[in-house]
Amino acid sequence: MLNDNCIFCKIIKGEIPSQKVYEDDKMLVFRDIEPKAKIHLLAIGKEHFKLLSEMDAERAELVKYMLIKIPEIAKANGCENGYRLVINQGEDAGQTVFHLHIHILGGETLGW
Ligand code: AMP
Repeated sequence: MLNDNCIFCKIIKGEIPSQKVYEDDKMLVFRDIEPKAKIHLLAIGKEHFKLLSEMDAERAELVKYMLIKIPEIAKANGCENGYRLVINQGEDAGQTVFHLHIHILGGETLGW
């Protein structure tokens, strides 16, 4: 289920533009608007929840699906030589968008 007040749900619905690099019925990957590395992608599931602590079995399946897909998506987008995954959890960790997302960071770092 999506949330009307969530910026990433709006991106999923096409109400806010994004630079999509991958999409299927379960997930979307798009470029971060303020890249913290040369390659900075955001992977989101098409189900609104904020934190890993809100995961039930179904959401865990979604996150597992995303983790299985990420290597091929990262490789197809310039991360042949490796990349980092970051999941910020909560305000103290710097989370600013409360729709669970996985940062994919490759190449030269520009901040993180
Ligand atoms: P976090 O701080 O982990 O919550 O990460 C949120 C990320 O979303 C930040 O790196 C932002 O630059 C990025 N972001 C916010 N709004 C947009 C947007 N409209 N399109 C692409 N990336 C965005």
